[in-house]
Amino acid sequence: MFENLTNKFEEIFSSLKKAASLDENQVDEGLRSIRQALLEADVSLDVTKDFIEKVKPKVMGQEIIRSTSPGDMVVKIVYDELVSLLGESNTDINLNAVPPVPMMLVGLQGSGKTTTTAKLAKYLEKNKKKKIMMVSLDVYRPAAQEQLRSLGEQNDILTLPIIEGQLPADICRRAVSAANLNGAEIILFDTAGRTQIDLQMMSEIKQIESIIKPTEVFLVADSLTGQVAAEVAKEFKNTVNVTGIVLTRADGDARGGAALSMKYVSQVPIKFLGVGEKIENLEVFHPDRIANRILG
Ligand code: GDP
Repeated sequence: MFENLTNKFEEIFSSLKKAASLDENQVDEGLRSIRQALLEADVSLDVTKDFIEKVKPKVMGQEIIRSTSPGDMVVKIVYDELVSLLGESNTDINLNAVPPVPMMLVGLQGSGKTTTTAKLAKYLEKNKKKKIMMVSLDVYRPAAQEQLRSLGEQNDILTLPIIEGQLPADICRRAVSAANLNGAEIILFDTAGRTQIDLQMMSEIKQIESIIKPTEVFLVADSLTGQVAAEVAKEFKNTVNVTGIVLTRADGDARGGAALSMKYVSQVPIKFLGVGEKIENLEVFHPDRIANRILG
């Protein structure tokens, strides 16, 4: 994960660390390389500029340049800024509602939404000791409803039986009664995705949000799409109250641009990383650990 960035940063820092003393030119050169590395990782220009502007006055301080291990101090400053860019460590999940607690997942088709619904269900069952019901609201793609049902069956997670032709709003209401009957404490609603954001999609998820009143709205975004993932999150945030991002396919993402741009661009924290296709491949997002990983 994020290997390209890690390799570049390793190169930049190893030469800075070797130097017994640093002058402004060397630091400036280092900053230019960091800027380049971030842009190549598909971090957006605004995020990159802001990052360098924050780091620059700190690393240019005389106490750094004159210190005995200036390279280490530069690494520490970059690390702190990376942690702050990645967002606060907010792993709490809001269960503060009369059960069945409703939560919804939104995102573009193919982002990994359905898989993530099942991963989250397993996570909540295991870590919060709650009984979960999963509900597909993707009435446009019967295959998607069937995919969720099958994931539920394979992993022993309750799903709402499918009634063909039922509209999302009616499915939502049926889900609440079924959860009450079955003793499910949390309902995870997997909403329909489209290949691109459109008005109909946005008005539908807005309507669903107003019916179910979710405590959490997770935006599922594909890490491999880089900056686009952050822009998608921003658009969803303008329509529904997105409370957290699940960044999928982080396992295959050598660059890391989405992870680094997400919080800055969308103002929503990343809460989980999808790190594989299996149901257990969901990691809680810890900015400090990711920054450590990036810095090697
Ligand atoms: P949806 O259309 O958004 O519901 O997407 P799906 O859940 O059907 O996922 C699309 C594909 O991405 C499937 O083949 C999943 O197995 C795969 N996928 C989902 N999340 C991850 C992940 O974190 N890592 C990897 N490598 N594959 C994933």
